[in-house]
Amino acid sequence: MIERIKEWVNENEDVIKSTYHYLHENAEISWQEKNTTEYLSKQLEDLQIPYKTFEDHTGIIGYWGNPEKGPTVGLRADIDALWQLVDGEWKANHSCGHDAHMTMVLHTITCLKQLDFQPKGLIKIIFQPAEESGKGAKALIEKGVIEDIDYLLGIHVRPIQELKFGQASPAIYHGATTLLKGRVHGLQAHGSRPNLGINVVDSLGAIIHAVNSVKVDPTVSASAKVTMVQAGGNNFNIIPDFAEFGIDVRAQQNDVMDDLIKRIEHTVKTAGTVNGATVDLETVATMIAAESSLDMEEVVKEAITEAVGADAVAPPRVTPGGEDFHFYKHSYPHMKATMVGLGTDLSPGLHHPNMNFNLDALQNGVKILSVAALKLINQEVKAFALEK
Ligand SMILES: [Zn+2]
Ligand SMILES: [Zn+2]
Repeated sequence: MIERIKEWVNENEDVIKSTYHYLHENAEISWQEKNTTEYLSKQLEDLQIPYKTFEDHTGIIGYWGNPEKGPTVGLRADIDALWQLVDGEWKANHSCGHDAHMTMVLHTITCLKQLDFQPKGLIKIIFQPAEESGKGAKALIEKGVIEDIDYLLGIHVRPIQELKFGQASPAIYHGATTLLKGRVHGLQAHGSRPNLGINVVDSLGAIIHAVNSVKVDPTVSASAKVTMVQAGGNNFNIIPDFAEFGIDVRAQQNDVMDDLIKRIEHTVKTAGTVNGATVDLETVATMIAAESSLDMEEVVKEAITEAVGADAVAPPRVTPGGEDFHFYKHSYPHMKATMVGLGTDLSPGLHHPNMNFNLDALQNGVKILSVAALKLINQEVKAFALEK
């Protein structure tokens, strides 16, 4: 079967690339992927795969097989683009490679279908909206369409600094991100009588120093820094009574992030109020760090070896960026999940308006996903006896 998969992918190079070009030309931003959802629905229809869409948002879930006969394997691709200035024109642009991810998942299914593969279980095809907003995965979790998945596979193209064309890693260890916004309330007074006021700029100074002083486990990379401050008006002779500030927090592990946030909340509220001001702090965005499933990584490692070759296997990459894929496993700890890192010679970088990569990598991605899906659904795994 693996040889047939490889042959199919090689024979269908042009079809795979033309799907990519279509999706690339028809990019849509988070929550607005209407035509993309329609296109993907049509493709699943042509493959005679039942699917469901959502009344209140974009995205689509396909169902192939029978969950009573074996495990449920999820294949996830994100589908949104970014809104950015490209060569002088503002437009939706697939600079994170989500067009490539959709192409690879779609052709994995097409390949297995056309080879008359019969899944001993259910393959769930998850075309997830709005990854870039950090809210798409959460929306699907709330809809209850993820819960029954035993094994979840995702894939993301990697920049050339992480992986070269021809390489692939069985996991990507994204870090956690938290963005905090704070407000300080003081008391106005004449600049000549500061004793009658409460100066919020003094609070900001104390807050910046306090955030820079927070310490956590030094064996795990983490950082916290104030990235925005605003206070005062045009009159420099008034003690200002209102300020806002922003903090960007990163940690490579979720437990370290939890510890860091607790310490920041405590220290900011203590330091910022020493002069009598009041401080409140809210979380405006979170992204969870990857939690590894080592046995899934073994399966993917085998799949990379058999699909592309032993030389292609690279160790999991640690990357400070965020990815909402990791909310799935975090919400359902019973699930085994991993995200394949695909080497594509991508440059200058993800989210760069002129990002480009070697399109031949799409074939490697389809081969790896097809072989990995096959192993998981039919439980043909050498490295581990997977349990349902
Ligand atoms: Zn992105
Ligand atoms: Zn992305």
